[in-house]
Amino acid sequence: MAQRGGNSKSGQRREDCCSFCGRRRNEVDIMFQGVDGSNICGACIEVGHKSLTEAGLTVASPKAKQAQGVSMNDVPKPKEIKEFLDKYVIGQDEAKRSIAVAVYNHYKRLAVAQNDEDVELDKSNIVLVGPTGTGKTLIARTIARLLKVPFTIVDATVLTQAGYVGEDVESILSRLLQAADYDTKAAERGIVFIDEIDKIARKGDNPSITRDVSGEGVQQALLKILEGTVVNVPPQGGRKHPEQAFVQVNTKNILFICGGAFDGIEKRIAQRLNTRAMGYGRVDTESIDRDNLLKYVQPQDIRSFGLIPELVGRLPVLTHLEPLSREALRNILTEPKNAIVSQYKAMLAMDGVELEFTDEALEYIVDKAVEFKLGARGLRSICEAVMKDLMYEAPSSNDKKAVVTRNYADDRVSKAPITRLHQVG
Ligand code: ADP
Repeated sequence: MAQRGGNSKSGQRREDCCSFCGRRRNEVDIMFQGVDGSNICGACIEVGHKSLTEAGLTVASPKAKQAQGVSMNDVPKPKEIKEFLDKYVIGQDEAKRSIAVAVYNHYKRLAVAQNDEDVELDKSNIVLVGPTGTGKTLIARTIARLLKVPFTIVDATVLTQAGYVGEDVESILSRLLQAADYDTKAAERGIVFIDEIDKIARKGDNPSITRDVSGEGVQQALLKILEGTVVNVPPQGGRKHPEQAFVQVNTKNILFICGGAFDGIEKRIAQRLNTRAMGYGRVDTESIDRDNLLKYVQPQDIRSFGLIPELVGRLPVLTHLEPLSREALRNILTEPKNAIVSQYKAMLAMDGVELEFTDEALEYIVDKAVEFKLGARGLRSICEAVMKDLMYEAPSSNDKKAVVTRNYADDRVSKAPITRLHQVG
């Protein structure tokens, strides 16, 4: 759009002309005046709007949103993130607080990057250390739901160094791209949960021709994408479609959350605490909570477990999950927004059957979950065993109410093959 300045046309007063095209007030349908007295006519606004549309920068367009980038006003505060997590995740306060701060800082980092400020904030990639079935995946999934960003879960055990049997590390980004409906820009702000990160810990010098058994090659490959790089990603993933064109994905702003049980790490923590008790940086051994050593986990512990130092360095937020107490397990059955018991109630309600669990039945399910040592995962598989027959019969039954008692639950669980109970979930 040519700007002819605000000069008057044939002696017309400046305030009566469009400052852009010079047309007079009586030559245009509508004229808007700015605070400094300059004007713009409806025709010039239209030309401007057309240019923006052609450039894909109208306010509602995705590109414009990208251009606007992150506004800290839209990002939930750590307290709000924690409150949201509370609705779905029982207990785990320490982990929820650390993650809430890490995620908030992640957005600060994006905001700083887009404003080209002098400081550059480091990424706040996270490691969650905690026994299986305590809510690591659930926390990551819930965060992604809150932030409405693409989210994917990958299992580190299937990853291998390029050239070996298994999935290349780039496949993580193929999955994220799929979760983002192939919107590269959205994927570049997504969250990736890498489960079982402890399983790629360095195990020794035992080279194999089929698989990178030491895990170190995978860790090196992961390191690159964690710290931020541009990766050529096969959008369909895998090596099955050699003809596919690569999509370039920049991982700089992708948040990585890693989870692992790190079985046996308590021993290393205890060793470290005992050494410290004697030497520099003494800790009061009396006050150490020996039943829950995970709460003292430090980066050097996951390093001595077998994660390479560079990778540990790229995972600056380290937090732990508590083993779930009986009370927490009991709450998980009924409290969260999509609690297991509520899910079964909703399912049977669709068949017109009102479902009730007695308190004793719920206690029994908790007892069994503790016995199987599968954390909350055990709850699900036990409930499935308890509910199997009911879900089969209820849709054809005339009974409008079903009550699960302790005896009923015990009867069903005793009949379920124990191995299956261990596997489900
Ligand atoms: P993991 O720690 O092994 O990643 P998950 O997050 O996958 O465990 O948990 C398995 C299932 O157990 C979840 O889908 C959820 O139903 C339940 N669960 C586990 N921990 C919690 C928790 N703290 N609060 C609520 N539900 C939980």
